[in-house]
Amino acid sequence: MDHKPSVLTERYEIGRLLGQGTFAKVYYGRSIRTNQSVAIKVIDKEKVIRVGLIDQIKREISVMRIVRHPNVVQLYEVLATKSKIYFVLEYAKGGELFNKVAKGKLREDVTRKYFQQLINAVDFFHSRGVYHRDIKPENLLLDENENLKISDFGLSALADCKRQDGLLHTTCGTPAYVAPEVINRKGYDGEKADVWSCGVVLYVLLAGYLPFHDSNLMEMYRKIGKADFRCPHWFPQEVRRLLCKILDPNPGTRISISKIRESSWFRKGLNPKQNKSESESASGSQENGNMTAEVKQELLQLRNLNAFDIISLSAGFDLSGFFDENPQKREARFTSKQPASIIISKLVQIAKFLRLKVIKKEGGLLKLEGLKEGKKGILSIDAEIFQITPTFHLVEMKKSNGDTLEYQKMMKECIRPGLRDIVWVWQGEHQQHLPQQLEQQQTLQLEQQQQQLEQQQHQQEQ
Ligand code: AMP
Repeated sequence: MDHKPSVLTERYEIGRLLGQGTFAKVYYGRSIRTNQSVAIKVIDKEKVIRVGLIDQIKREISVMRIVRHPNVVQLYEVLATKSKIYFVLEYAKGGELFNKVAKGKLREDVTRKYFQQLINAVDFFHSRGVYHRDIKPENLLLDENENLKISDFGLSALADCKRQDGLLHTTCGTPAYVAPEVINRKGYDGEKADVWSCGVVLYVLLAGYLPFHDSNLMEMYRKIGKADFRCPHWFPQEVRRLLCKILDPNPGTRISISKIRESSWFRKGLNPKQNKSESESASGSQENGNMTAEVKQELLQLRNLNAFDIISLSAGFDLSGFFDENPQKREARFTSKQPASIIISKLVQIAKFLRLKVIKKEGGLLKLEGLKEGKKGILSIDAEIFQITPTFHLVEMKKSNGDTLEYQKMMKECIRPGLRDIVWVWQGEHQQHLPQQLEQQQTLQLEQQQQQLEQQQHQQEQ
């Protein structure tokens, strides 16, 4: 039974079901204030916790906040109630690219446009240390102007998830689109693996069917491992050449994104400005899009919202105002790429300088206490350190006792400047410094995606 609310926190009307993912339903929505169309992804918290996918949700939120690009579905806002998490997303009116290909192969110029947009977006998020790991036409949506929007970062990984060998080690994605080195589980470079999947997408768009297909999964893996595919007769020479370089089973010799950009087929129809790398086409561009001032405002609030907090919240409430940057506020948060020991020694050093006593409590809590009693009692500041990864921490500082003005003055004049060397970003600072904060990826074999794949094959065979 579907218990979706018709109105979400008096801000969005929820309409028809747009689609269903592995553990979420996506509905059409409309902002009550601005009338703007949105997509609302509803995630059942309990279900997600039960199957141990909470990290995946955290990662999806973090990643979507880091990756803001015209060809990536934008996350406007995250809301939570006691039982559900709601992602308010940019609405992709054109639906899944998959539905188009399911009706038959696409024209070469149309394919090229989608492929160019795909490569632009992938290049952009790679530059932000994010790998999608599940690129396929079902995760490529279209807006009302037929522009490509990559969605579903549920399986994506951050560069932080790499092991010491610099490689990712989790097998994920959808079999037919997965690179050989991902299948053989020896560790892989997320960037090269995404390039492979882009090659499979290019093939599928132009052919209308998959390059590697077999009803027996092991046989399909064998074909992938040997890059055993044939191009249909209508594939232009330039595309064949490009595909051979992309679908190279050796990730070491596989073509890079910058070389794909330089290929003659890719460049066709682009003016030099359009074929710019991610750094040039990045963040600013979508700000000029069709976003209303209201949504922009909401995004500003969202900047301070972090996945770690969202998930640990259990009560039902609207998160939108939770992280307002208010200088009068008693608490301040920063993220640091330093290990906890360095953070602690820095805090101890500052406390010494300020003649504050340091009391270490359990669970990463430090209390910095004044020696003299003031008008409002002894000043006491709590600094709580949360580990997100061993080298990535969130530190929350707040006054637990004493005079607020004295505390604010101390924070502004001594503590904030004193922490400068170890702070990566203070809450409320620039979006591009957003924390990369999540733990190792869990293995996830998506049976449902396998089924979809089989259905797709079935349809094509008919
Ligand atoms: P997901 O859980 O992200 O895989 O989404 C499941 C399905 O919902 C997708 O395959 C789409 O059909 C639909 N969907 C997801 N996000 C959007 C969006 N932003 N706009 C329109 N439809 C969407």
